[in-house]
Amino acid sequence: MRAMLLDRPGTPLRLAQLPVPSPAEGQILLAVQACGVCRTDLHLVDGELPDPVLPMVPGHEIVGTVAALGPGVQGLHIGQRVGVPWLGWTCGHCRYCRRGQENLCERARFTGYQLPGGYAEYTLADARYCFALPEEPAPEHLAPLLCAGLIGYRALRLAGDAQRLGLYGFGAAAHIIAQVARAQGREVFALTRPGDTASQEFARSLGAVWAGGSDETPPELLDAALIFAPAGSLVPTALQHVDKGCCVVCAGIHMSDIPSFPYAWLWGERQLRSVANLTRRDGAEFFELAARTPLHTEVHCFALEQANEALEQLRRGAFQGAAVLRI
Ligand SMILES: [Zn+2]
Ligand SMILES: [Zn+2]
Repeated sequence: MRAMLLDRPGTPLRLAQLPVPSPAEGQILLAVQACGVCRTDLHLVDGELPDPVLPMVPGHEIVGTVAALGPGVQGLHIGQRVGVPWLGWTCGHCRYCRRGQENLCERARFTGYQLPGGYAEYTLADARYCFALPEEPAPEHLAPLLCAGLIGYRALRLAGDAQRLGLYGFGAAAHIIAQVARAQGREVFALTRPGDTASQEFARSLGAVWAGGSDETPPELLDAALIFAPAGSLVPTALQHVDKGCCVVCAGIHMSDIPSFPYAWLWGERQLRSVANLTRRDGAEFFELAARTPLHTEVHCFALEQANEALEQLRRGAFQGAAVLRI
């Protein structure tokens, strides 16, 4: 099979020919149809994530069909469409797993980081961590839901019932979560890179009541802010724009340092928290919601061997929505 391999951080991915793997006990073999290109993949390639297993096939927004079942796999059948997310395996008995926080499992393994990912024609996955997916829409439109949608959904859930929701960084995650928030009757305020009028226009087209640069002050105090951009300088900015008693959620796996700021900006019971990974419960909830709520994902498709170009365009913010490898 063809696969894009990361040999070591700081170097481009390399197109390689690898043997099609065989599923072990509890695993499925997937014929990959599409794999989203996530900002986390960029952090991996740039060496900003510790201890990747190398060489690695990146990619953790995988949509494929079941090509083979390993021994003991129940509830999935050959040809079925499934999705593979970032959370690929947990231990099941550490204190986090026991208290329903498998996203924090100390021994968790992640797809396209410690486990083989979806920048390939085939991949393996532990059947217990896969999600059954509907036959519609096209795989490239479903792929961004597997991380941008899911982690965005977890961030939204942790923001509680905030009515006026600020989204900092209007990329793959925000463009999906804006639609979910709108369907839930919330008001969306989009804050983009200063001067990025194309993203602001895109946000308004998805129902944002206001869109502007992150250097602007939203017209109303926000009830919650979700930060999807990996820029720590947005944290003090967002804290100044949320109301007393409200929450700022950092949704990325990596962020530049947060500059110091006056305590007064946190005072008033404002909360600052991060979101790490996902649980299978998040996925079940989110895909149930996605089945009821029409979510349009704006995708920019690339061939498998164009993965480096897709990453570079993501870095430059060269497109709206999400990048997806169509395999
Ligand atoms: Zn655990
Ligand atoms: Zn991701």
